[in-house]
Amino acid sequence: MRAAVIEKPGVITVMDVAIPEPGPKEVLIRIAASGICGTDIHIFNGDYLGTYPIIPGHEFSGIVASAGSEVTRVKPGDRVAVEPNISCGICDACLGNRQNFCRDRKALGVDLPGGMAEFTAVPESAVFPIGDLSFRAGAFAEPLSCVIHGAEQIGLRLGDRILIIGAGPVGILLAQVMRLMGASEITQADRNEFRLDFAKQLNGSVACALLEDLPEDFFDAAADATGSPRVMERTVTLVREGGSILLFGVPPKEASLSLPAFTLFRKGITLKATYTSVRNSVQAVRLLGSKAVTVEPLVSHELPLEEIAHGFALVSGGLEQVMKVHVLPGSTRG
Ligand SMILES: [Zn+2]
Ligand SMILES: [Zn+2]
Repeated sequence: MRAAVIEKPGVITVMDVAIPEPGPKEVLIRIAASGICGTDIHIFNGDYLGTYPIIPGHEFSGIVASAGSEVTRVKPGDRVAVEPNISCGICDACLGNRQNFCRDRKALGVDLPGGMAEFTAVPESAVFPIGDLSFRAGAFAEPLSCVIHGAEQIGLRLGDRILIIGAGPVGILLAQVMRLMGASEITQADRNEFRLDFAKQLNGSVACALLEDLPEDFFDAAADATGSPRVMERTVTLVREGGSILLFGVPPKEASLSLPAFTLFRKGITLKATYTSVRNSVQAVRLLGSKAVTVEPLVSHELPLEEIAHGFALVSGGLEQVMKVHVLPGSTRG
């Protein structure tokens, strides 16, 4: 099969590799759509938890090609989304329902072969049938799971006024989920006017291009979807007294925050960081299936596997009109 392999930081090559053999409790997936995420760029750049060489890709959907002898939940031909975080189920973290902190956690596309290939073998527990949902939408089950987990961390109340900094695919999903959870008004901030327009049209968000233009001490909750430490620091002045801050974006590995300790104390701010998801795929697939969350318009580019390096360049280049880039490993053209 053809697969994209990050051989070492900075080097990605599309090459022939053996089709994986699924074990008795595993499923072989023929991958249909596989999203490029900021995390893939971090792995490519060598500044995340990656192991090399690695087939990247942790946001994907496809068809069950074959199933091991002990698999009971799915059968060949089923359309599925894949949850990439593989937890052991028996460590203290897993037994405490904190699977994202599993002592033996492995992630497809990070330390196990991922979705930027024609096939991948995954545990049965990682696949979620998506019925007649499009593969394009199914590939959002993973980022949406992380967004659901994050949004559930900060305890929104009906009618809350929310600020989301960053209007990329994740910021837009956060807005949709927080709207579903009862937010009355979502303000989305981003320097990129294309993204702001997009958020306004798709989500009905209030758009704001400059952080300096945002009202201070106003928002019930603010979420950072940029990963920029300077932006995270700024949220402290923007939330009201007793407000909450969700740190969602992935910051650079060596970054530090500088926060005004007295202001945090005086305003009684709740600061909540969130890391991946805790088996939220069932929720994600249901919201995608019911169309309560709209994801298909977020796909700005669809590329064949052979053009993955171009896809990485699009995502890391931060060009105006790049939203979610999907690689279609089963297609020879975009
Ligand atoms: Zn991701
Ligand atoms: Zn575990």
